[in-house]
Amino acid sequence: MLSDPIVVVVALATPFRRTFDYLLGDADIPAVGTRVSVPFGHQKALVGFVVATKAQADSSHKLRAIHAVLDDSPVFSKELFALCQWCADYYHYPLGEVCQLALPSVLRKPEACPVMTQTLWQITEKGSLTPIDDLKRAPKQQQVMRVFQQRRTMLSEHCKEAGLESTTLRALGEKGLLEKKTIDEPLNQSGSDQAILKEQALALTDEQATALAALQYDDFSVALLEGVTGSGKTEVYLQAIAAVLAKGQQALVLVPEIGLTPQTLSRFEQRFNVPVAALHSGLSDSQRYKGWQNARQGAVSIVIGTRSSIFIPLDNLGLIIVDEEHDLSYKQQEGVRYSARDLAIVRAQQAKIPLLLGSATPALESLHNALAGRYQHLRLSARANAQAMPSIRCVDASSMELAPESLQAINQTLAKGLQVLIFINRRGYAPALICQDCGWLSECTACDSRMTLHHSYGQRRLHCHHCDHQTAVPAACPNCQSGRLQALGMGTQRSEQALEALFPQVPVIRIDRDSVSKKGQLQAALDVINQRQPCIMIGTQMLAKGHHFASLGLAVILDLDSAFFSSDFRGAERMGQLLTQVSGRVGREQHRGEVIIQTQFADHPQLRQLLDSGYHDYAEQILAQRKMAAMPPFEYLAVIRCHGQTAQLVQNFLQQIRGLGQAIAVDSKIEFLGPFPMAMEKRNNRYHHYLQIKSAERGVLRSLLKILCPQIEALKVPKGLHWLVDVDPQEF
Ligand code: ADP
Ligand code: ZN
Ligand code: ZN
Repeated sequence: MLSDPIVVVVALATPFRRTFDYLLGDADIPAVGTRVSVPFGHQKALVGFVVATKAQADSSHKLRAIHAVLDDSPVFSKELFALCQWCADYYHYPLGEVCQLALPSVLRKPEACPVMTQTLWQITEKGSLTPIDDLKRAPKQQQVMRVFQQRRTMLSEHCKEAGLESTTLRALGEKGLLEKKTIDEPLNQSGSDQAILKEQALALTDEQATALAALQYDDFSVALLEGVTGSGKTEVYLQAIAAVLAKGQQALVLVPEIGLTPQTLSRFEQRFNVPVAALHSGLSDSQRYKGWQNARQGAVSIVIGTRSSIFIPLDNLGLIIVDEEHDLSYKQQEGVRYSARDLAIVRAQQAKIPLLLGSATPALESLHNALAGRYQHLRLSARANAQAMPSIRCVDASSMELAPESLQAINQTLAKGLQVLIFINRRGYAPALICQDCGWLSECTACDSRMTLHHSYGQRRLHCHHCDHQTAVPAACPNCQSGRLQALGMGTQRSEQALEALFPQVPVIRIDRDSVSKKGQLQAALDVINQRQPCIMIGTQMLAKGHHFASLGLAVILDLDSAFFSSDFRGAERMGQLLTQVSGRVGREQHRGEVIIQTQFADHPQLRQLLDSGYHDYAEQILAQRKMAAMPPFEYLAVIRCHGQTAQLVQNFLQQIRGLGQAIAVDSKIEFLGPFPMAMEKRNNRYHHYLQIKSAERGVLRSLLKILCPQIEALKVPKGLHWLVDVDPQEF
């Protein structure tokens, strides 16, 4: 008797929050988490992810058949697939989209896993027997043979890293002294019996030792390591990782953006003798795939990566660390709007391992959990080298130019042989161009925003940072024809020019997105800074994150005032984090540092509190305010974002969603607010609005969205209108 045909239930990266059934055909039954290639609508082939298989009970449904099973073994382990399912469920995105996102792009095509062939060079018998002196007349070859007579084999990529030239290797191959071999799987290097430590660990300070001793490795736990800037959080990470490696396990370290802090990576590589994989946006697709493969095959012991590395396959994971856990970059702002920090909690829970969240300026969510006893709260209150925190003072001035007090302090700092950092969070020459006669401003026609004036390579142009629109600078005012057009305000380029004129004796180094857009430019700038000669660096947020500048004596913060006027409920939290992080770059080694804030709001009570009692107390006070206002982390938020060609269309659509939501939520405690226009309503000729949904219970909000999202999906969406759901939104 013929048995029932097998049906494969697959998730697809389509906008639909559901799975699809296909007939398996004669292929072997694939495991959950395996990729298959399937036809979909008019599309010939899409990647599907196997969610389940079952016997077809009712054959009256005409199902299409899959084209092929793409993987011999599933690309997702059970645990990782469960993490994807959790993510899809919590953030209300289609599972197929989450699965796509969790894989390197090479695996997002409906094609079999490319075989990653690695090559290695191996010494031949003849090579072993040949006396090294026979190669006297070819010194390069002689040198290479010395290496191989000791090491026997070496991966080609390691030969390259060790500076063994491929021409020399090939020449030795032709002589029959070496031979090149292909291997299909990378060697498992973590099983080597080398000592784990390459360099000695530092002797811990008492606070570091207490924090490290509090970590438990044999079960799930979350610890918040709240340590002031320079308190040696990294050393705690390194020693916690050593403990995990000693047990033969792996560690995953999430960082905001490695490209910006190459130092972090090198500190891990210097410490350990184990293979470290770095995964970040600077890698090519094939490099990413290789990193993924190596991790999956257990060939790496430490993965350091940005947001999406939370999905990296590591079968023997023993510890997850999220450094600078407050950083916004952990929340994906396009596509599936997940938070890597929050997924780290889920992953650690699944794997029954500890999660360590580190920051000098923890997010209020994390701080709240620590204060409530849900997380272990580990604190480092002093700098590791006993250096005092910098002194901070406010100078009453606008951000337009450097105040006399600032100039004086810069002079004194340079005279002491130290470096200076000028912080301006506006790239470009000036935030706008203004007509001195009629007040015309360089507004972007596509956005509710001004076009920034840029001076680069001798060219002046206007550039909108929101829609990327660029134009030439008008010769005369478009409104009154006056020629008196003037740059308004200060950007990094303008400040660079001014400082070069004022301090011709020292290098002025600008670090912002424009100046480091090319590979290697940031490293070149950091190399100059690391020579520890007096210099002035000017930069945006990029400079505020995680850097350790040994000779930085002074920071001047030019524009903090915009932070006070943020319409976002997280504005005060962000301002406190930014100010503390920028200040934290200063005075980290021999000299006590100094910070000057140029502001017109020196007496602002919030700023006073931050300066007088530090981030922790300041954060506790904002927490109290959030509690009164019933805002996160005390209540839970989701927003439905929507944009379209007219404000009316968008408003109507969101009103309709609000109606649906209210009908579902009749009995539960859910609050609908809005729809409201976004702070910048018009962007790139589209109108952006949002509907806010709030509840005191996470579960209630989650259940509501679970019903609401498919209902929105089923609505007739006006042409050109786009909507999305954002759970735990970070920006408004
Ligand atoms: P954080 O990440 O907390 O800002 P870092 O880990 O960068 O701080 O440490 C700041 C500096 O203190 C670094 O130069 C580091 O080498 C040094 N350091 C950390 N721990 C110790 C220690 N136990 N003894 C001496 N120096 C230390
Ligand atoms: Zn004018
Ligand atoms: Zn624009």
